[in-house]
Formats: sequence, structure tokens, C-alpha cells
Amino acid sequence: MHKSSQFRTLLLAGLLSLSPGVAFAQGSCLALRWVTLGTAGGPVPTADRSEPANLLIAGDQRILVDTGDGTIDQLARIGMDMRLVRTVFISHLHLDHSGGLGAVIGLRWMNQFPGVLTVYGPPGTKEVVDGIVASMGPPARIGFGLGALPPTPAGSVRAMELRDGQSITLDGGVTVKAAANSHFDHDGKPDPANISLSYRFALGSRSITYTGDTGPSDAVTALASGTDMLVSEVIDLDRLMKEIRERRVDASPEMLVSMQKHLSTHHLLPADIGTIAFKAKAGKVVLTHYAIPGLLSESELSIRTDIGKAYAGPVDLARDLSSFDLGCR
Ligand SMILES: [Zn+2]
Ligand SMILES: [Zn+2]
Repeated sequence: MHKSSQFRTLLLAGLLSLSPGVAFAQGSCLALRWVTLGTAGGPVPTADRSEPANLLIAGDQRILVDTGDGTIDQLARIGMDMRLVRTVFISHLHLDHSGGLGAVIGLRWMNQFPGVLTVYGPPGTKEVVDGIVASMGPPARIGFGLGALPPTPAGSVRAMELRDGQSITLDGGVTVKAAANSHFDHDGKPDPANISLSYRFALGSRSITYTGDTGPSDAVTALASGTDMLVSEVIDLDRLMKEIRERRVDASPEMLVSMQKHLSTHHLLPADIGTIAFKAKAGKVVLTHYAIPGLLSESELSIRTDIGKAYAGPVDLARDLSSFDLGCR
């Protein structure tokens, strides 16, 4: 690559320190950084935000956390070499959070990147990964026009299903704890067959807690206890319901009532986020996954006000490709 265009790429990335393959150190400690690749919320595509996806940089590990559609494009935009990503965590199996997984697995295999990609997620993740691998049967039989057929796709990826309360340790000393949240609850009771997970990622004494989708949840509060950064979805219920009423003129009053109940119990209002962050004593809050129609700026004041009723710490509203660093301490 020409030197100036290489530099432009790095400038565009705004993330010069994401050098491939390097356990980036900040002073005396390893980097712990969260990049919001896609900050849209829900399954409605938008022009200005990519579907939910995040990149966690923890020492020499590059970890995808949720892989909504567009994940690999967003990785390219920050100059992240996909071959460095060997680990994926999926919070739950709604397709806004997993729609880009096929491209992550498939293009990694087409490039014949070394190593096996591990996809962690709730029960059902193995079925999803097996389905993606099955969809790679025809291209595997076609090959890449290079003579010999490529190795079977099944050897390029494995799925590991996690349960509520499970903790694992990854390469590089990154620990991850999973907690089942209330995103799939029925009238306050857990769904017996399906779970949605929130994750706490820790490196040394620092941690980032991520909740993809959840309603108010004591389990998430406990998971986030003392965390340095709580990354959370957010919903503007009033604006969302107004839009639904305008778009769905056919909706019955009963349907609107059940929609409002679903949105307010299976997702987080700003006041809910403030309560969780306050109780957990979170160091800061980063908002993403905006279930907010129209301009975010028109909701920002009320979001900050409602979170601030309980939580006095810093609150950041992420954009696509925002980067949040945890410094050393
Ligand atoms: Zn979602
Ligand atoms: Zn969801």
C-alpha cells in the first residue's frame, strides 16, 4: 500500500493503536478497549448506524461481541485485520445481534485464515453455527478456482454454549462471566427454553460489562457490580411508541398495549440504566443499541436526565466506530 494511503487508512480508522497482532500496552498495563462497531437497535436497518456489533480489545485478544449485519465492513473501516479475530461472543440469538455471523465465519474460511474461530453464546448457538457451516457445503464443493478443493468448513469454527453464571478464561488471561438476563422473560418469569446473556469481560483488575438486550434485571446489576464500564442498550419508549402508532395504523389497542409492555420489560429505559449503574457502582456508562427512531440528539437530554436521576457518573452516547479505553490503574 502506498505510504500516504496507508496513513489515510489509519487516520480514517482514528485508531492508530489497533496495530494488528500486538498486545498493545498503555504504560504498564495491557489495553482494555471497547469499540462500538454498530450502534443500531433492533431489526430495522438505518442509514446512519450499522446493526449491533462490538469489538473488545483486551491485551493481544481481538474479540467480537455480537455480530449484527455489517460487522466485517465495520472491522474493515477501523483497519482491523479479520485474521486476528479468533473469538466471538453472541449475547442472544435475535438476528439483529447475529445476522453478520455467517460472513464472519464464511469469509474467514474463504481466506483460509489460520486457527479455529470459537463462537460462544447461549444454548442454540451450536445449532446456528452448524446451520452456517451447512450453508457452506456448496461453496466448499465449488472451491476457489485454485485446483485443489479447500479444507472442509467445519474445521474452521466451533461453538461453545454458555449457561447462566458460567465463567471462562480465554487466552491472554481475559476472563468472561455470563449472566442470564430478563430479555426473554414472560410476565417476570424466565423463559424455560431460551436465555439471553449479558457478559462481564475482565483483564486483571479492570472490567467491562455488556448487556446486549435486557429488561430491568438484578442479575445484570450483580454481574456489573463494581465494573469500570457498563455498555448498555437504551430505548426511548415514548418516541418508539409514537412511531409505531403512526406506522401501524392497523394495530389494535390490545396489540399496542402488549407492544408497550414488551418494550418496557424486555429492554432498558434510561431510568432503568441509571438504577442498574447506580446499584452496581459502575465507573461509567456507554450507551449503544439505540431503539430510538429519528435523531438521537432529540432524545439525548431526556436520556441523560433520566439516567442522572439515579446515577451521577459519566455517560457516553456511542456512535458507530466509537472507541472507549480503560486506562491503567
Ligand atoms: Zn437487539
Ligand atoms: Zn433481542
